[in-house]
Amino acid sequence: MATTKTGAPLDRGTLDTLLRRRLFYTPSFEMYGGVSGLYDYGPPGCALQQSIVDTWRKHFVLEEDMLEVDCTMLTPHEVLKTSGHVDKFADWMCKDPKSGEIFRADHLVEEVLEARLKGDKEARGEKVAVEEEDADKKKRKKKVKDIQVVKLTDEVRKEYEETLAKIDNYDGAELGELIIKHKITNPATGGALEPPVAFNLMFQTSIGPSSNLPGYLRPETAQGQFLTFNKLLEFNNLRMPFASASIGKSFRNEISPRSGLLRVREFLMAEIEHFVDPAEKKHPRFVEVADSVSLKFLPRNVQEQGQTTIVEKTIGEAVREGMVDNETLGYFLARIQLFLKEIGIDQNKVRFRQHMPNEMAHYATDCWDAELLTSYGWIECVGCADRSAYDLTVHSKKTGQSLIVREALEVPKVWEQWDIVVDKKWLGPRFKKDAKKVEEAIEKVPQEEREKMAATLKEGGKITVKVDGLGEVELDKVTVEKNQHTQNVREYTPNVIEPSFGIGRIFYSLIEHIYWTRPGSELRDVLSFPPRIAPTKILIVPLSSNKDFAPLVTALSHKIRRAGVSNRVDNSSTSIGKRYSRNDELGTPFGITIDFQTVKDGTVTLRERDGMKQIRASQEQVIEVVKGILEDNGTWEEALEKYGEFQGQELDE
Ligand code: AMP
Repeated sequence: MATTKTGAPLDRGTLDTLLRRRLFYTPSFEMYGGVSGLYDYGPPGCALQQSIVDTWRKHFVLEEDMLEVDCTMLTPHEVLKTSGHVDKFADWMCKDPKSGEIFRADHLVEEVLEARLKGDKEARGEKVAVEEEDADKKKRKKKVKDIQVVKLTDEVRKEYEETLAKIDNYDGAELGELIIKHKITNPATGGALEPPVAFNLMFQTSIGPSSNLPGYLRPETAQGQFLTFNKLLEFNNLRMPFASASIGKSFRNEISPRSGLLRVREFLMAEIEHFVDPAEKKHPRFVEVADSVSLKFLPRNVQEQGQTTIVEKTIGEAVREGMVDNETLGYFLARIQLFLKEIGIDQNKVRFRQHMPNEMAHYATDCWDAELLTSYGWIECVGCADRSAYDLTVHSKKTGQSLIVREALEVPKVWEQWDIVVDKKWLGPRFKKDAKKVEEAIEKVPQEEREKMAATLKEGGKITVKVDGLGEVELDKVTVEKNQHTQNVREYTPNVIEPSFGIGRIFYSLIEHIYWTRPGSELRDVLSFPPRIAPTKILIVPLSSNKDFAPLVTALSHKIRRAGVSNRVDNSSTSIGKRYSRNDELGTPFGITIDFQTVKDGTVTLRERDGMKQIRASQEQVIEVVKGILEDNGTWEEALEKYGEFQGQELDE
């Protein structure tokens, strides 16, 4: 059961109402009935998203000296055909031909099996966690014929649990088999379903008036980064390794968007492409995290056994044991965890799950997801994939332009080898269309064989090679000699490690993690964002509408803004307590009250959101306290100790 930060059950309905009422986000085009999977952000939502993005930029781009780019979202067909997205970027959907309803096959199987397991628990008299459902799901559930309180045999229960643990690993045919085997139908009508078919998730369009140039809205920011690789390498003075980074919108035509911001059709992504030498995937800063960062892992082999048991260890151990493939991948997993911690994600609600082979995107060789626990279950919020040399190789092949690194060798490589040189003027006319085949066969002759060939020639003998389809072929006009070779430059196609963040998913999961309800005569919702992440930092409230307060409020607001701290004024006529609790809902960490004492001596009170304690000090001192906390240069506890807790003012809370 999902809980809030105080351990109380999380009421998702109430939280969702709060977020919409306070305009964190709202369905787009609501006046026209809305479009599922599309949301707009309001003022606190925009400010929160910006805080998350700012922290991301500092944590990754600035800290790691990454090269940030902003590439276009419109992408020509050819690029995404080459990258494999046109053919493979798809989910499995199945249709109820009677009602016309369409389901995402894996989600449907998951939902039905989970519902049957719940029904079984109830039938056996076990307590079932009643999760708060969003309006959509509630509606669906009312109609679900499949959820019956029926006991399952031990064998069936085990089979369902194992299937659910591996649900991401099934392809279309396997999902089709599961649907038949478990007699899964349209949950609302009981109607039979057609077998799953692939549905491409990209939005297609055409670029320009002639419709000659088909294109798509990009499904990820990565391709733009790959295609600027040569320019970035040059910008980086040809030094490797390096990383590019990009923050921007991506688009996916999800089959059945649900779960609010967690599955939408247009979302903000922050992606890093770290280009690395495939022969050297060490990371110079790995030592900084190796022993100090511990992660909770859910490795592939555990899931394949149908289990979800967590393995906790340091990233150093995980890489040493080979559970995480290499240092660079490990370094980024640790940095992802530190980033999530910095923005306020509950560390007990993070795990790193390794992809199973079938689940991996077409370009990936290994992949770990940072998953966050929410009331919707474990949600992938950051993917971290080793894309190997896939993308650079396919784009290079398609365009004929090389996307490689040339590195001067410090010590040139010198070696001797036997070379076979055949006179081309003889070879071409002699073998005509088969000449290439003969050349390829010669290339493959091993060194020991070549040495023997040289001796044979010296003695005046004839040499032959075996060619596919032609048998033994005698070589005339040929020399075999031992030569010295020197290599000054090494060439390679870099591999790419890609951490990919969905900002909307992190945004929503964070809110669930820091949401709680303050007990009291009237329950009050609080969003305890870390001050640095909070949409607004300070609320200014005049004690009453007394006209003496107005100029002080304006002057203080300017002063705080000049200090680079965001603030809002609430001079409405409701009680101070109500005004504070309205801002607790917005997660504003500090409140400043201007009262009659301020008119006399300029001092104000500063209230901290979570503990509701106050201090009284001069305006400059109060601003300094807040700035210090925002810049990690002091704590609220230190301020309380320095100025003492202020209890003089009646706050009517
Ligand atoms: P992927 O390229 O599929 O690994 O996605 C990278 C990240 O984008 C995921 O970890 C999610 O955080 C985010 N993401 C993917 N699809 C969606 C979606 N439909 N809605 C919101 N975020 C998404």
